[in-house]
Amino acid sequence: MTVTDLVSYEDALASYDPVMGLEVHVELGTKTKMFCGCSTELKQDANSQTCPVCLGLPGALPVVNEIGVESAIKIGLALNCEIAEWCRFARKNYFYPDMPKNFQTSQYDEPIAYNGYLDVQLEDGEIFRVQIERAHMEEDTGKSTHVGGATGRIQGASHSLLDYNRAGIPLIEIVTKPIEGAGARAPEVAKAYVAELRELIKALGVSEARMEMGQMRCDVNLSLRPNGTETFGTRSETKNVNSLRSVERAARFEIQRHAAVLSSGGTIVQETRHFHEEDGSTTAGRIKDNAEDYRYFPEPDLVPVAPAREWVEELRRGLPELPRLRRKRLKEEWGVSEHDMQSILNAGAVDLIVATTDAGAPSDQARKWWMGELARNANETGRGLDALPITPVQVARVAELVTSGDLNDKLARQVIEGVLAGEGDPDTVVEKRGLKVVSDEGALSTAVDEAIAANAAIADKIRGGKVAAAGALVGAVMKATRGQADAARVRELILEKLGVEG
Ligand code: ADP
Ligand code: MG
Ligand code: ZN
Repeated sequence: MTVTDLVSYEDALASYDPVMGLEVHVELGTKTKMFCGCSTELKQDANSQTCPVCLGLPGALPVVNEIGVESAIKIGLALNCEIAEWCRFARKNYFYPDMPKNFQTSQYDEPIAYNGYLDVQLEDGEIFRVQIERAHMEEDTGKSTHVGGATGRIQGASHSLLDYNRAGIPLIEIVTKPIEGAGARAPEVAKAYVAELRELIKALGVSEARMEMGQMRCDVNLSLRPNGTETFGTRSETKNVNSLRSVERAARFEIQRHAAVLSSGGTIVQETRHFHEEDGSTTAGRIKDNAEDYRYFPEPDLVPVAPAREWVEELRRGLPELPRLRRKRLKEEWGVSEHDMQSILNAGAVDLIVATTDAGAPSDQARKWWMGELARNANETGRGLDALPITPVQVARVAELVTSGDLNDKLARQVIEGVLAGEGDPDTVVEKRGLKVVSDEGALSTAVDEAIAANAAIADKIRGGKVAAAGALVGAVMKATRGQADAARVRELILEKLGVEG
């Protein structure tokens, strides 16, 4: 189906009610893999981080990574889940070349965490509660590279290369219950949920959750049912969507596609689908296996996981402040509007601003630089704010130089430009570029005298009481000092010398 065959979004919602299910995979930031001691650091050399266990060699015996279990429990607790007193791993059997054991070690009917919820905030401030079905532990697969074809896909390739460095890296899969009642806001809810979950995972310190690096990916399940009916329709499952924007677009596209199929009398096939960044469309993948096809059974080589209640409670006590509540607190501390807070969040600037204030800058200065000059530079150069070659400590130093009067805004912008250009830290840039506010009274006084002499007519007007005309003289002095004078002091001097009251 092409994009033009779609039913418009409004028409789709006029007849149908979307139901969604989101499955998010998070790659944990543990040092070693889930069931062996291999490093999780992704080295250049293919297959350098492997051993008999993660290569699935006969007779190899897996051992559970304790930090993996601990991370799973932390995630479960933060999602308000119950934590199993006893659970097991299960083998999910299927053949795929990037899975050397021919089964994935996962959890099936005994997940470590279940029955929770996550409150997410929509753009207008409304809170939407997403119910969580389960969070379970499993492992990642290896990586196939298809060589010789034009597209890098398996079709047309002459051969494939396999790298098992990623095989066995711990994953937590978080599955929502069917999300109902979002209506036209379903795509927005999907995006807000994944965004909130990402913030939560980062706050827990269990993963960096970088979607662009595949550390967090989302499968978007979606079905439609006629408005006013209860029974769920058949779902499609758009796999491995890897940005917040794409999650929203995939849900939106599927709503329009399902509506087109259903309203023309067709039926939706339960299948996986691929999302395409270029035009926001999805295309058919494989017909979805039923769970029975995986022949799940309890993993006989691993002991059951029975986390002691004291441990669980200790982890509960150690949970950090929830991101949504932290944002609420910061919004109040910074005295910004809901809208501004949302922009700060969208720009990925919350932590950077906090780090800048922690380094001593007033919060309005910290916000001003990160959301102004630096956001502009990040935009122009297509980088995230956190990828800019400037640190919160450096931004705080610039703010300090402004507060002390050593720099004015204009000079501060040049200092930041210098730091971004790799000229060194703020003090070095100030030194090298000679960017200090001229506060030497003698030099200022001379510059003011010169400006008065060169603009006699304006000076007369000011003497005659037209104080507003002083701006032109201030401008002349600033120009003469290459912007390095303290404008407020210059204005004072001009008025003083011309004998008028400011
Ligand atoms: P699978 O392993 O087949 O993907 P899961 O149960 O792990 O199945 O995940 C299915 C996801 O889709 C869950 O989030 C679930 O709540 C949701 N879901 C189930 N049925 C429907 C449906 N008819 N429409 C939309 N979402 C659904
Ligand atoms: Mg699934
Ligand atoms: Zn290994």
